[in-house]
Amino acid sequence: FNKWIEGLNRTRKVAFGRLATLFGATDISAETWDELEAILIQADLGVETTESILAVLQDLVNREGLTHTDELQSSLRAELIRRLDAAPAVDFDSHKPTIVLVVGVNGSGKTTTIAKLGRQYAMQGKKVLLAAADTYRAAAVDQLQVWGERLNIPVIAGQPEGDPGAVAFDAVQAALSRKMDIVLIDTAGRLHTRYNLMEELKKVYRVVGKALPGAPHATWLVLDATTGQNALQQARAFKETAQVSGVILAKLDSSAKGGMAFAIQKELGLPILYAGLGERPEDLQPFDREAFVDGILG
Ligand code: GDP
Repeated sequence: FNKWIEGLNRTRKVAFGRLATLFGATDISAETWDELEAILIQADLGVETTESILAVLQDLVNREGLTHTDELQSSLRAELIRRLDAAPAVDFDSHKPTIVLVVGVNGSGKTTTIAKLGRQYAMQGKKVLLAAADTYRAAAVDQLQVWGERLNIPVIAGQPEGDPGAVAFDAVQAALSRKMDIVLIDTAGRLHTRYNLMEELKKVYRVVGKALPGAPHATWLVLDATTGQNALQQARAFKETAQVSGVILAKLDSSAKGGMAFAIQKELGLPILYAGLGERPEDLQPFDREAFVDGILG
């Protein structure tokens, strides 16, 4: 039982399924390249990455005199892996507590992802604190508190409509006095008021830095993998305001466009830290580029 194979079922079937008919006992022809290009574009790898992979494979064919399509398979796998960075390990040792801001638009899977992360770290023996600084959405605060109770992880929350900065500040102070290892701060994500959202984020940065100089130590952007190019645009907007240090791709299991992982690496230069492969708390995996590529290729 492999979570990646299961979680990437849709991307594999919808986007990459045609590879099975492409890689057969047929001769490599112009149609091979057209079809491979169409598959990679459809999977949202982005034009640049697609063209560059095609160029590498075409070069290989010419150099080694390959003639059959099935001879391309392992090279495609290697090329895909090569285009993804290995996920850096989360550094808990340099700062205690380690303060992480989690950003992303509403509906991206941010709150669920925070719960999943909290659970993982708690299982590793870390002392985790969650902060519900998305005070504009009462439901988001409730949701995080429910997760906290279920997972037995403390949650700092403010008043509804209260100041997100104040919640973040309280959380950092509480973490210092309670000697926590990590604080995950849930921030607001109303994209329709992008200006306010970004201004508010800046304020949270300032306040967190005041509570603990040098903090936050990381900013993780949660993106909804089902939204493809849209998620990429959001990522650009967040990158302008926030010091995004890594991306978490939520809902990869619901997406047929898992290829956007490549576009994120190429265009944004941000490492993918985790992948959401389902709705349950245990459905979050540290990003493993080989398992990911095997999951999409099958
Ligand atoms: P937020 O508005 O960004 O905080 O989003 P939520 O955490 O409330 O998630 C929105 C919806 O996406 C919820 O129904 C979650 O259960 C669902 N969701 C979150 N992550 C995943 C995932 O990795 N896979 C699937 N299938 N659903 C997810």
